[in-house]
Amino acid sequence: MKTTAHTLIDIPFEFRHTCWFCGEPSSALVQLPRASANTQCLEHAPLTIPACKECHAIKLSKHLRSVWALRAHINQALITKYAKHLGIGESWTEQELIDCDFSGAILGGFGDSAWKMYEIAKQRISYQGWSISLEGVPLDSIDDTVHFTFEGIDYTSIHHCIDYFATATDIDKELLVELVNILSAERFDYALKIAKLNKRISPYRRDQIVEEVRLQEAEQQEALHIREMDALQNRTHSLVSEVTISGVVVPVFAIQWAIEKGIKNLNDLRDLEDDYFDDFAHLGGAVAFQSYDGLQSYMTARTDLTWVNSNDPNRDLCTG
Ligand SMILES: [Zn+2]
Repeated sequence: MKTTAHTLIDIPFEFRHTCWFCGEPSSALVQLPRASANTQCLEHAPLTIPACKECHAIKLSKHLRSVWALRAHINQALITKYAKHLGIGESWTEQELIDCDFSGAILGGFGDSAWKMYEIAKQRISYQGWSISLEGVPLDSIDDTVHFTFEGIDYTSIHHCIDYFATATDIDKELLVELVNILSAERFDYALKIAKLNKRISPYRRDQIVEEVRLQEAEQQEALHIREMDALQNRTHSLVSEVTISGVVVPVFAIQWAIEKGIKNLNDLRDLEDDYFDDFAHLGGAVAFQSYDGLQSYMTARTDLTWVNSNDPNRDLCTG
């Protein structure tokens, strides 16, 4: 039975002063749901969770169904709030900041604190909390909110991740969206690299880049397809065995040719007789004729299922 009272989640000793959402020192308690009237849509018992002042102050939607949705919501709010700090790490490396040697009242301050600000923000949004249990019993609820993870940060979707980079850096959001559409979420890394190299571009330039990437992808797909076909053919080739029928040897190359042409019977073979002699003219008339003759016998023999089952070494290949 679901209880309506909020229960404080178990807090391991080492986390006794820690915000479950971001890892900062805790000083408040978040109640889920905030108003006791909303317990119906919650997937688990009402919870009380230790939080820092800032996470506690984030406005919550009334329709949060689980603590995981709550965490994702707070995480997104922190990402949006600290986008500029997070952007420092996206645009600079720590060494670059040191090398720049910013000085003066404003820039000097930036050089000193910029990397620290970035690290704190990054740590907070990557923080995972500890596993939730209530009086020693693990919470019976599965986290189904994370749909995209990039560089250690969980996003509720790829769109949130794109939004993050669009806010944190000055990349062209439209370009990144189009690139992800072509390259898929799995290659977000590559899409982001292209977008970072092409900031502040004209619509015309954007179209050019998108078209180029689309073309590259198509070519790669084509190359991949050819490689797969080659591999398949090599595999088939190594599986084909020569056959001897009434003392006549039917060589592997002839059987291989029949498989490639999709020949299933004597009629198919006769239809392509000219092709056969064209393809094997380089072997000389005698060899071509003998092997063709063997192939005819083989096709005839293959109509006899008893023969096929007991004598045909290629019965599992696709000529049957
Ligand atoms: Zn917090």
